[in-house]
Amino acid sequence: MTRTLVRAVQEAGVRDPRLLEAVRATPRKGFVPPEFAARAERDEPIPIGHDQPTSQPTLIARMVEALRLSETDRVLEIGTGYGYQTALLARLARQVYSVERHADLAAHARANLGSAGVRNAEIVVGDGSLGLAEHAPFDAVVVSATARQVPAALAAQVAEGGRLVMPIRTREADMVTLFVKRHGRLRQQRLLLPACFVPLVQPGTDR
Ligand code: SAH
Repeated sequence: MTRTLVRAVQEAGVRDPRLLEAVRATPRKGFVPPEFAARAERDEPIPIGHDQPTSQPTLIARMVEALRLSETDRVLEIGTGYGYQTALLARLARQVYSVERHADLAAHARANLGSAGVRNAEIVVGDGSLGLAEHAPFDAVVVSATARQVPAALAAQVAEGGRLVMPIRTREADMVTLFVKRHGRLRQQRLLLPACFVPLVQPGTDR
């Protein structure tokens, strides 16, 4: 019952009614490997292969809410995984482009999104730290993996007034951070919450 997750997301402080409706309309069971289906309605991370987890829905919802999406927005997501966050983004925005480095995860995500009736999300296999210059600029960018700073290519692809949410690695934790682009520069706006993310694989690293 997605009602359990809707309640968890509300209790985590999420108020946006469109986002709560998107959570309700998106059973998470369709976005986890079948052997974990029984756990899908719990607010916890679930393994999706390649040592990667799909994050707990309350964390995803808080990151998505911070993007303040409108239905005309074009969104870039880095780290598709099984596509759960992609589905929420797609229900709130006009078009989502999502980059995943593992081709098999991207294939699962495409299939899951198709089954959920999501038609406005395009999944691209590649290195998300480079963004997708051919579709830039984006009104909102969300990165589901952590690094010490926002990769320059992603910062460059945010539209003026656009938002970027990404976990920034510090000594203590990955601090999920909201940035806004003003006068051509990405500025830190707000720290959302500490969390635990997998590293954003970048050129020169091999993980
Ligand atoms: N948003 C997803 C997160 C999946 S985990 C969810 O919660 O459901 C993070 C994902 O980021 C993994 O699938 C991993 O393969 C991907 N990833 C890590 N570095 C990447 C990179 N440089 N480019 C594209 N995808 C990357």
